[in-house]
Amino acid sequence: MTALSSRFAALCAAFAILIAAPLAAQEAPKWSFAIHGGAGTMSREAMTPERRAEYEAALQAALDAGAAVLREGGSAMDAVEAAILLMEDDPKFNAGKGAVYTWEGRNELDAAVMDGRDRSAGAVTGVTRVRNPILLARAVMTDGRHVFLSGAGAEEFARDKGITAVDPAYFETDARREALERMKAEQVSALDVDLKFGTVGAVALDQAGNLAAGTSTGGMTGKRWGRIGDAPVIGAGTYADNRSCAVSATGWGEYFIRVGVAQEICTRLRLSGRLALDEFAEAASADDEVGSAGGVENVALTEGLVQSVADDVMAEVAELGGDGGVIVLAPSGVAVFSFNTSGMYRGRATSEGVSEVAIFRGD
Ligand code: ASP
Repeated sequence: MTALSSRFAALCAAFAILIAAPLAAQEAPKWSFAIHGGAGTMSREAMTPERRAEYEAALQAALDAGAAVLREGGSAMDAVEAAILLMEDDPKFNAGKGAVYTWEGRNELDAAVMDGRDRSAGAVTGVTRVRNPILLARAVMTDGRHVFLSGAGAEEFARDKGITAVDPAYFETDARREALERMKAEQVSALDVDLKFGTVGAVALDQAGNLAAGTSTGGMTGKRWGRIGDAPVIGAGTYADNRSCAVSATGWGEYFIRVGVAQEICTRLRLSGRLALDEFAEAASADDEVGSAGGVENVALTEGLVQSVADDVMAEVAELGGDGGVIVLAPSGVAVFSFNTSGMYRGRATSEGVSEVAIFRGD
């Protein structure tokens, strides 16, 4: 056997066994989808049944919109966009209409998307007139010349691309203004005022096996001086790579940037998958020189592994003093949530009939 053919045979054997083991018990979904609508301090007691039903309905609508795209064979990126568009238009969430206020009483919006096929990405920060910042982030990615646009330049780019603009007053809501006023009056932090963060995000695996991620937010109440959170920072709040996972985060952005949460999770998963494959290939063909090929290592990304990696990285956020959560989707279709707050608005759906939304820890 030539070195090349024995390497190929060993990889095939590794692939066959690794794919059979985790997936035999549970059929791999053809598509998989997960969303979040923010994480934060929320208590069952403080939420009326009516309010809870409103949030659950909004989450279900966003989940269904993305799932419909994937069911019909649409792309992961289209599914992410479909879900986030709905949540941006819904004032209950801190993205698009309903965004939180800056210290100066403005709504400055951030968003990002990333395509796991080639790690192309688009992000915008500090926009004040674009009705759906997720569309602008996607246009930045599609245009391809730059990854991250800010403020006036981003608005100019939006005009060039014909993206719908609105008067800044469109984003205003009484609830978010009151939160800012309370913060100023009581001199409390955004965390005390803005009990739930409310950022929105989605991650998708389509039938072609591609991953995508997107996140959109108004940031944190009372942010100043052009502050940028993690959501539009590729690698912090948003990341997608077909070799490992798609992630969207929500929480205290400063900590997510410092930990590089989204990319850290994906990198750990990519290396864990490789390690598992290498170990297997080594055992299967002791004297052959066998490595792993791009993509093949992902068959080792079981739910347990994905959950523990997400939890480990979130533990680092907590150790530094931050809080929030992530949604993580692996190429196998495994979708996990990890959060260190009392709740996270969230949902997931798969081709195998899963369709669930939840709010509190333990739901
Ligand atoms: N992560 C966002 C930020 O820091 C806030 C949030 O998730 O609600 O801007």
